[in-house]
Amino acid sequence: MLKRLRDVMASEASAQQRLDRTVKIIALDMVAEVCSVYLRRAGQVLELFATEGLRPEAVHVTRFQPGQGLVGEIADTARPLALSDAQDHPKFAYRPETGEDPYQSFLGVPILRDGRVLGVVVVQNRTRRRYTEEEIEHLETITMVLAELVATGDLVGRDELFSRGEQFAMPARLEGTRINGGLAVGTAVLHAPQIEIKSVIAEDADRELDRLEGAISGMHRQIDLMLEKAPTDSADESRDVLEAYRMVANDRGWIGRIQEAVRSGVTAEAAVLRVRDDTRTKFAQVHDPYLKERLSDFEDLANRLLTHLVGADMHRPAELPDRAILFAKQMGPAELLDYDVTKIAGLVLEEGTSASHVSIVARALDVPVVGRIAGVLKQVDRDDPVLVDGSNGVVVLRPSEDILDNFEDMMRASAEKRSRFMALRDLPAETVDGTRVALLMNAGMLADVDRLEETGAEGIGLFRTEIPFMLRSTWPSVEDQAQIYDKVLDKAKGRPVVFRMLDVGGDKRLPYLPDAGDENPAMGWRAIRMGLDRPALFFKQLKALMVAGQGRDLHIMFPMIASTEEFKRARDLAERGAARCRAEGIAPPTRLSIGAMVEVPALLWEIDVLAAEADFLSVGSNDLQQFMFAADRGAPGLINRYGPLTPAFLAALERLRVAADEADIPVTICGEMAGDPVDAMALLALGFRRLSMSSGSIGAIKAMTRTLDLQEISSYISYLRSHVHGPFRARLKAFAWDHGFIT
Ligand code: PEP
Ligand code: MG
Repeated sequence: MLKRLRDVMASEASAQQRLDRTVKIIALDMVAEVCSVYLRRAGQVLELFATEGLRPEAVHVTRFQPGQGLVGEIADTARPLALSDAQDHPKFAYRPETGEDPYQSFLGVPILRDGRVLGVVVVQNRTRRRYTEEEIEHLETITMVLAELVATGDLVGRDELFSRGEQFAMPARLEGTRINGGLAVGTAVLHAPQIEIKSVIAEDADRELDRLEGAISGMHRQIDLMLEKAPTDSADESRDVLEAYRMVANDRGWIGRIQEAVRSGVTAEAAVLRVRDDTRTKFAQVHDPYLKERLSDFEDLANRLLTHLVGADMHRPAELPDRAILFAKQMGPAELLDYDVTKIAGLVLEEGTSASHVSIVARALDVPVVGRIAGVLKQVDRDDPVLVDGSNGVVVLRPSEDILDNFEDMMRASAEKRSRFMALRDLPAETVDGTRVALLMNAGMLADVDRLEETGAEGIGLFRTEIPFMLRSTWPSVEDQAQIYDKVLDKAKGRPVVFRMLDVGGDKRLPYLPDAGDENPAMGWRAIRMGLDRPALFFKQLKALMVAGQGRDLHIMFPMIASTEEFKRARDLAERGAARCRAEGIAPPTRLSIGAMVEVPALLWEIDVLAAEADFLSVGSNDLQQFMFAADRGAPGLINRYGPLTPAFLAALERLRVAADEADIPVTICGEMAGDPVDAMALLALGFRRLSMSSGSIGAIKAMTRTLDLQEISSYISYLRSHVHGPFRARLKAFAWDHGFIT
C-alpha cells in the first residue's frame, strides 16, 4: 500500500492529481466508501481538497471554520477521532452539498507536520462500525506520506499553510535591546537543528528495524556514559534527573510504539517522528509539571534518536532565503558563522547581550541585532516577514503595508545618514577644540578588512585571529593561517594592523578543541594561558604571522594577560619563535611590536611595570568590565545594572591611560564601548586618543568627535564622577543631546 502511494507521489502529475489518486487508494485500502482530505487555509479554515465517495461538486466548496464540525474538532485537538455513528456527535455539522447522508461511521486523523495541523483525512463507511486501533494507526502512517505532499506548498502555498492563524497572523511590535544598530527587512528563519527525513516509506522493514535497534543502543550507550560521569553523591539531584531520563529511554511502551510504526512500513526516522508527534499531542492537554517534564524527556530522546539515525545532517544549518532574519534563543559565534553569512540581514535573540561574542561577530558582519526579547520564539513563525530596527531595539513581525512603508522611509533616512557619515570619511576625527583622535577598526574576517577603505579607519586596532579558526572544522595549518594574515596586511595597504593571538575559550569554542571542562570557562584555561601551556600551537601561529609580516611592520598582542611576569613569558616565547623563523630563512619584519591586552583587573595594580615592558597596551573593556563587576558579559539580566560609565570603571581606565602616557606607549580601547558614542565621549574626556571599534560605528564616532567640545564634556564628567556613585549613562546622554554632541 505504502509503495503504491510512493509511486503516486513520485509521478509527474500535478499535486492536485496526485492528491485525487491518493484518496482513491486510501479508500480502497481502508475498505471505506469515502475518503476525503481537508486542508487548512489562512484563517484556519479547513477546505475540502479531494474526495472519493462524496460529491465532486463539494471539492473546494465545503469548508469548516476552526472548531466547527468533526473536521474542525480534529484539527483543534490534533487527535484522531473514530465514531461508529458520526451524526450523533454533538459537533457533527451537516453539509448538504457533500451528499454524506448515508454514511454512518467516521474516522478522521490530523495531518501533522512540525507539530502543526495542516489538515485532516477522513474515511467514512455506510455501515455502523468500530475502527480498530490498528486501523487508526495505519491511517496515521498513511497521513505522514500525505503530510510530505502537503508540505511542498503546491496545494496550499507554504505562506498560508504555516501561518499560525488569527492571533499570530496579526502584526506584532516587540521591544528588546539594541545590540547592533541598522535596519533590515527580511524573512524569518528559526535557528534550530534541522531534521531532514529523506524518505518516509521504507524499502525493507527488517533493515529499518535493525537501524532502529542500532540507534537505540547508541543512544543508551550515550546516556550510560553521561551517568558514569555524573556525581555519585546520592544527594545530587542531577543524578536523579539522569536516572529518570534513563528509565524513560528504556520505556518499553515508547520503544514498542516506534517498532510498531516501522513494521507498518515507514523508515526508522519517520517512525520516531510519528511517535514523537503522537506523544506531543497526547501530552498537549496535560498540565501536571511532572508529566510535562517526562514529555520533554521524550522529545529530547526522540531528537537524540534522530541524531543517531540521520547522523551529522541534523546539525546542518538551514538553507537561508536571500534576506534572512535569524531568530534564536542564544547562539554561539561559530553557529552564526556556520550559515551563509552573505544572506543574513538581521539577528534577533531572546537573550543575548552586546558584549557576547555572537554579537561581536554579527557587528563585524554589519548585521543589525536586537536582543533580549522574551518569548519572541513563540510569536514568530518561519517565513514570517520581519522588520528589524537594531538602533531602537525593535522588531516588527508580519508588518502591515503602512508599517512597511514607514519603515522603508526610515531605511532611506538611515541610508542618508550613512552617506553623511561617508562624507566625513576623509576628514580628520577632531574635536571642536582641536584634539585629534585616531579611529581604528576591529576585524576578524577578510570581509571586515575590506571596510577599511569605505570607513576611512586609520588601521586595525584589533584583529581577532580566533574568528578564522572558528570558521573551520580542523586546525588551520601554518600556510593557511599565513595566507589569511598576508591578505589582511595586503588589504590594509600599509595601515597598521594589530593581530591578537588566539583567544579561544569562554564562549569562543573551536569544534576541534576538546572542552577543558572548566566550570567557568571565561575564567578558565583560555587565551594566552593555552598559548603558554601549548608552545607548539603558539609557535605555529607566530610563524604564520612572521611569514605574512616579512618586510612589513608587525604588531602582535596577547589576550588575557594577568601579570607582567606572564606577559614577559609570552614575549620571550614570541622572541624565541621569531629567532627560529629567522634561522629558517624567513625575512624579519621591519619592526615587531609586542603589546598586552588589559582585560584582567589585577593588572591595574602593576600597570606601570607592565607599561614599562610592553610596546603598547590595548584595553579589552568587555572582559575588564565583566571581571571588575563580576558580571558575565553575556548575562542579559546584568547589563543594565552595571556599566562602563561608573566612577569605579572610569577610575580604572584613567589609571591605565596615565600609566601608558608616563611610559610613552600607545594605549587603545578596543572593547565595545569604543564604538558607542556616549561611552566614547567619556573615553575622550579621560584622555584616550585611540579607539578601535566595529566598522559600522566609525561614522557615528567620527561625527560625535567632530561636534564635541572636549573641555565642556570633561568638566561635566568630572562632576558626575564625584557626585554619582553608580552608573550615570542616562545623565551623560541627556547632556550630550542637549549640547548637540550626539544626534
Ligand atoms: C574585550 O574583551 O574587550 C575584547 C576586545 O576582546 P573580546 O571581546 O574578543 O573578548
Ligand atoms: Mg576579551
